[in-house]
Amino acid sequence: MRQKLAAGNWKMNGTGADLVELKALAKAQSTAKSEILICPPATLLSRAAELTRDSAVSLGAQDCHAANSGAHTGDLAAVMLKEAGASTVILGHSERRADHGETSAIVAAKTTAAWAEQLTAIVCLGETLAEREDGSTLKVIGNQLAASLPKGATGENTVIAYEPVWAIGTGKVPSLAQIAEVHDFLRAELTTRFGAEVANAMRLLYGGSVKPGNAAEIFATSNVDGALVGGASLKSADFSPIIQALDAS
Ligand code: PEP
Repeated sequence: MRQKLAAGNWKMNGTGADLVELKALAKAQSTAKSEILICPPATLLSRAAELTRDSAVSLGAQDCHAANSGAHTGDLAAVMLKEAGASTVILGHSERRADHGETSAIVAAKTTAAWAEQLTAIVCLGETLAEREDGSTLKVIGNQLAASLPKGATGENTVIAYEPVWAIGTGKVPSLAQIAEVHDFLRAELTTRFGAEVANAMRLLYGGSVKPGNAAEIFATSNVDGALVGGASLKSADFSPIIQALDAS
């Protein structure tokens, strides 16, 4: 009932020359069952949109401002990203929370702005290593979920990505039991707040060092509906086997 989602976050990687990877991915995955999303740097969105038109690959942005326009040097509004070709926007990635001081309240405001432009928000949550080690993971995730997600979330306008901060770009991955514990908790929290219909329609992604070699076991884990992938989404040869593993799950 929930379509699986393989989302790639290119972060601050990629210039025009790297669009060959997007072209290769669209060609290699033309019959994929899963939804495929690539979030390149905003500078590439318009060109990426040309390249992926009529393909199985859709496009997202990596952040947006909460305002629609105004004196916010260097920022981009949801309406601009939509015009450039994005259908989705990643919000509250731990690198944004850490590098730019984004609080969950800011993430919630950005989510509202994204929805106003009919962009799907991928809202990211995750504990630090210190929080994992002191046993407060579920408390942290619960607080982030409650404060980052505004009223009005649905399975169409929102995707949740659980990304332990200590697993991003490190090659470290939580145990499957740890992933299942958080994903089951998220589904239960969403049910309490939004009701079973909305909670059961909302996709829950795992993110943090997903690679071709560990994708299948992660996708077989309870309440995992796909992945948000950083490093391994940059090359079609790495991302394609992850998508295939998701299709097979
Ligand atoms: C990410 O950027 O969201 C991410 C999960 O990165 P990586 O796959 O490289 O750990």
